[in-house]
This record gives sequence, C-alpha cells and structure tokens, in this order.
Amino acid sequence: MGNSVDTIALHGGYNPGNGEPRQVPIYQSTTWKYATSEDMGKLFDLEASGYFYTRLQNPTNDFVASKLCAMEGGFAGMLTCSGQAANFFAVFNICEAGDHFIASANIYGGTYNLFGVTFKKMGIECTFVDQTLPLEELQKYIRPNTKCIFGETITNPTVDILDIEKFAALAHNNGIPLIIDNTFATPVNCRPIEFGCDIVTHSTTKYIDGHGSSVGGAIIDSGNFDWMAHADKFPGLCTPDESYHGLTYATKFGKAAYITKATAQLMRDFGSIQSPQNAYYIQIGLESLPVRMARHCANAQKVAEFLASDDRIAWVKYPGLESDSQHELAKKYCPKGTCGVMCFGVKGGREASIKFMDSLEFATIATHVADCKTLLLHPASHTHRQLTDEQLAEAGIPSDLIRFSVGMEDPDDIIADLKQALDKIG
Ligand SMILES: *Cc1c(COP(=O)(O)O)cnc(C)c1O
Repeated sequence: MGNSVDTIALHGGYNPGNGEPRQVPIYQSTTWKYATSEDMGKLFDLEASGYFYTRLQNPTNDFVASKLCAMEGGFAGMLTCSGQAANFFAVFNICEAGDHFIASANIYGGTYNLFGVTFKKMGIECTFVDQTLPLEELQKYIRPNTKCIFGETITNPTVDILDIEKFAALAHNNGIPLIIDNTFATPVNCRPIEFGCDIVTHSTTKYIDGHGSSVGGAIIDSGNFDWMAHADKFPGLCTPDESYHGLTYATKFGKAAYITKATAQLMRDFGSIQSPQNAYYIQIGLESLPVRMARHCANAQKVAEFLASDDRIAWVKYPGLESDSQHELAKKYCPKGTCGVMCFGVKGGREASIKFMDSLEFATIATHVADCKTLLLHPASHTHRQLTDEQLAEAGIPSDLIRFSVGMEDPDDIIADLKQALDKIG
C-alpha cells in the first residue's frame, strides 16, 4: 500500500481476506465465544490478545482506530465515545491526584472546563499558558510534578496554530510527553507526530465524521515516548498494576504500553467505548476525508478573501490569509491548508451580528462545527452567553466574534448567502 494519507484513508486498517466483506463489517456484539475456560482466562490476564467484551474492545472499532492511526503515522490507537472522553483519557492515563500539567489557554471551551474545573476536583491541577510565549518563558511553568503538555494544532474557535516543535522541545526537555488535539487540522493537513508530538487526540465528531452523524473520539499514540526512561514520573505505566496481577505496562507491552493501559484499565473502569455502529460511520467519513478537507480549505480561502474585502466586516481571522498573524505557522505545519473554520466580526456590535446571523438562508446557526454543511455560532450569544463583554475579553473572545465553519457547498453560493445577510443589516 502507498504511504500517502489519501491512499491510507481508503485502504488502511482493514485488509479483507478471500471472500470477506470489502467494507469494514459492523460487529454488533457485546461478547465473544470461547471454547475453554483457560482460553477466556488468558484474555482477562492480558496473556493473550483477543476480544471478549465490547466495553474494552471491539473489532469494528479496532479496524477504524488502526486506519486513523496509520493516517497519523502512529503506533497504536483506540476509539472513545466522544472527543471529551479522548482528551480525558489521554491525560488521565498518565496523571493522577497530586499531579500537574500544562495546556494552552486557547483550547476548545469543553476541554478548558474539563482541565480547569473537573480535573481540579480529582486533585489534578492544570496551568493554562499563552501559547505564543517563547520556550524560556514556558519553561517557568514546569514543576517537579508536571506530567504532560497539551495543545490543539488549530485552536477552536480562534484558529491559532500551535508551534508544535516549540512545545515538543518544552515537553522533551522536561522528560514528559506532548499531547495534541488534531481535530481541526485532521491528519490530512497536519501529522503532529512528524513534528515531535507523542500522543494525538481527536473529536471524530467533526471533520472525520464530516456529516454530523455521530459523536466520537480517538487517541493515537506514536509509541515514541520512553516511559521507563522517566519511570519515577509515570508510576501508572512503570510499576505493577495490581488489578492485573502485578503486570507492568511499559515493560510488558513496550511501544503499545500507553494504549494497552488506556484500553485494559481505563475503558474497563470508565466504559466510554465508541459504539461499533458509530465507528462504522467514522470509517465511511475517513474514506473521503482527504477529498473533503481539500474542498473545505479551497472554499474557506474564497470566503475569507471575500470577507476581508467587504467593508461591513470589522475583522477576519483565517490562517490562509497572507496578512493573518498565523500565516507563517500555518505554512510550516499545514502546507496543504488548515481547515474550513474562521472567525470574523461584523461592524455594528452584537445587534448587527444577530441581525446578520438571523438573515442567513442556508448557513445554519448550530453548536456543531467542522461539518460538510456551512455552520456558524456566536459565542457571546450562545456558548459563552452568561459572560459580560469584559469577561469575554478576558477569555480572549471578542463580543462580536462569529465562528464560521465553511462547508462544501458551491463557494459562490456561500458568499451570496453572506452578501444578502450583510445587505439586511442596513
Ligand atoms: C468538539 C471538540 C472537542 C470535544 O469533542 P466531542 O466529540 O464534542 O466530545 C474536543 N476538541 C476539539 C478541538 C473540538 O472541536
């Protein structure tokens, strides 16, 4: 098979034998049959690999996770029931009460809340940092109990590009892994592992599904981080797990240690598996992802250029614009394009923004983002509605920010819809 992500999207992860189904089959079964008690016992002891209960693993999910893993250039992967679960497990697999980690302050609001509020209740502290700080400044946030660093390739909603190499250097100088949420870029436009990232996460709900059908997530491990070289920091991976008769993941499973622990321990205990039916939808989405991402980027570029040229628009932020603050980073990390998401403000404040949004014909007001259909959201009226304008400014979200997720419609139609809605502001 070729190494191109376009080809892996179609042929990776699943290789049917003679007379077997060409498309990935849906294993809609909770459980598996074994001939002897001994056979089954070995699975429970992680002495043999095989399926026994879908809460831990399911073949449909594994086919799809291996395809995504191959697309990311990773070593092992798993699916989760949502992007939130993916980011929760990715961090919780290595952090426990008393630990600390660092995340970019620009990340998705749901993840921000998970890290800042919910992890805190579990005794895990997160420091949010300005991702534009130089390496020496970022180093000051590292503590003896800091266990990982987290960022997003392209931030939701502010479409800032993470300097992955800078953050990989910060992590590796301190003997800890870098985790990156690659939801907006997808492996089609950026493969963070090639720039030194250790673990990649996804909300597959967005571009990977692409058709607004199913909530899901994924974790892909590069297998590159040497846990045993920093064994004192990662007791969960480097000391015996009593719930599996004292086996040690890092020594027994090597490069597969991190994903094996997340599957055998976290999925067993927290049960956040993707349903095989939804995994099948993700698989269909992955097959066309390269074609769709190219279309999203081409459309978004045209829309951003239109917005930048219209004097009823106060500002527009899209990394594909040459004047954009993120353009240079985008060229380095996403040379094929970034994604279909952008932000802009309409002149005339909140009132004009609302009139504009309500006047759109097919561009839909929705919480969702990164979908085949054009969608938009106004954080000040929706996700961040409880905040005052001052609080919004503190969160880095201007009160006039509209998150605009460009779909795959004819770009001239998208621009026409924007134009007629702008005309109605008066
Ligand atoms: C949507 C999103 C998530 C959360 O994913 P769900 O599938 O909605 O749980 C995490 N990270 C990013 C960047 C997202 O856009």
